Amino acid sequence: MAYIEPAPILDKENPFEAMMSRFQTASQILGLDDEVYNVLKSPARQAIVSLPVTMDDGSIKVFEGYRVIHSTILGPSKGGIRFDPHVNLDEVKALAAWMTWKCAVVDIPYGGAKGGVACNPREMSAGEIERLMRSYTLAMIDIFGPDKDIPAPDMGTGPREMAWLMDEYSRTQGMTVNAVVTGKPIVLGGSLGRTEATGRGVMVTAMSAMQKLKINPYNATCAVQGFGNVGSWAARLLAERGLKVVAISDLNSAYYNSNGIDIEAAVKYRDANKGTLDGFKDAEKISGTEILTLPVDLLVPAATEDVITGNNADKIQAKLIVEGANGPTSSKADNIINEKGIIVAPDILANAGGVTVSYFEWVQNRLGYKWTAERVNRRSDRIMKDAFDHVYKTSVEYKVPLRIAAYMVAIDKVAKTYKYRGGF
Ligand code: GLU
Repeated sequence: MAYIEPAPILDKENPFEAMMSRFQTASQILGLDDEVYNVLKSPARQAIVSLPVTMDDGSIKVFEGYRVIHSTILGPSKGGIRFDPHVNLDEVKALAAWMTWKCAVVDIPYGGAKGGVACNPREMSAGEIERLMRSYTLAMIDIFGPDKDIPAPDMGTGPREMAWLMDEYSRTQGMTVNAVVTGKPIVLGGSLGRTEATGRGVMVTAMSAMQKLKINPYNATCAVQGFGNVGSWAARLLAERGLKVVAISDLNSAYYNSNGIDIEAAVKYRDANKGTLDGFKDAEKISGTEILTLPVDLLVPAATEDVITGNNADKIQAKLIVEGANGPTSSKADNIINEKGIIVAPDILANAGGVTVSYFEWVQNRLGYKWTAERVNRRSDRIMKDAFDHVYKTSVEYKVPLRIAAYMVAIDKVAKTYKYRGGF
C-alpha cells in the first residue's frame, strides 16, 4: 500500500455537539420530560483555573486547567484528567457528560466528570509535569474528594501523575487519602488489572458483538488506531483471543501487515523507542487515515475523538467498530455508518472497562483490602458482558443502533434516579 498524505478533515465536529445530538435522539425516544432533559444537558459545575508553573529554565508559564462535573445524581463524580495541547472547555464538557452515561451504562454508582490541562506533556520534563499536576490538584482541592469527585488517568496522564495528585491531596488533609484518585501505581493502592482494564473491556465488548454477528474470532482481522494504553492492550488481548491484528497506528505513523502484526513485539518496540512506533519493522507503513478504511472485520478506534467523520465514513469497510476512544465517531458519520449496516459498539459502553476497574480500586481503598487480578478481571468481564447484553436487548426492542440504545439505558437510569431524589 502506497503512503498517502492524510486527507484534511473538513467537518470537524465540536465534541459537545456530538454528545448532545445523540443525547437528544435518545431522550426523544425515551419521551424524557423537558425538565429532566434540561437538568441532564447542563453540567453541574465548571471550574477554569490558571496554573502558573516554574519551568526548568526558571521561566514561569501559565497553563489553563479545567474540571467539569457533569452530574452527581448517581453518586460522587468520576472521570479522568487529560494533559493535551487541544484540551478546551467544550471538549472537557463533552467528556464529562460521556462519563455520566458511561458509569450509568455499566451500572456503577458514580456521576460523571472530566478534567484537563492544555499542555504538551511530550515536551515537558518529569519535574515540570509534577509541578503542574500538584498545582492543578491544589487548584481543585475543594472539588476533589473520595466522596465528592474522584479523578483518574486519561490521555497524557498515567499512574505517575495520579501518585502526585494523591500525595498533594493527602498533604492538605494531613493523612493518606488513597481513595481520592484511581489509576494509581499498585504500591500506592492501585488495583491489579487497572492498567489493562479499558483495553480488556474493549476486547470483551468486541467478543460479545462478534458472537451476535456470528464472526469467528479465529477467522477475523482487525485494525487498531492508537497504540497508547487502550489501543495496545486491546490489540494484545484481541490477538490472544485469535484475531489477526493486521494494522496498528499511533500519533505519527501507521503499519500494516496482512499476515498479522506481532503485538508483543510492537509493544516492546514502542517502549524502547520513546513511546512511539516510528520506524517499526515487519510491517508496511501506511497513512494514518488509511488505517480506518482497511478491509477488516473489526475496527478499533482507540486514539481520540472525531476521527470517523462525514469525510471518511462512507469508505469504512469494517463490519464492526468497537470504540476504545471517547467520541471517535462524529454524529454526522453515525448516519452513514448505520446506512452501511456497520455495527458500532459505542464508546460509553465499549471503553467503560477502565472506569469499572477504577470503581473496584476505590472499593478496595475504602475496604483497606486488595483483590487478586483474577477477581478484578472476572468481575469486570461480567459487568462488561451484562452491560453489552442490556444495550443489545434495548437496541433490538426499540430497533435503534447500539449507540442510541446505550444512551437510552444510561439516560433512563440517571433520569429515574433524579426523579426519586427530587430537585428544588
Ligand atoms: N479516563 C478514563 C475514561 O475516559 C477512565 C476514567 C476513570 O477511571 O475514572 O473512561
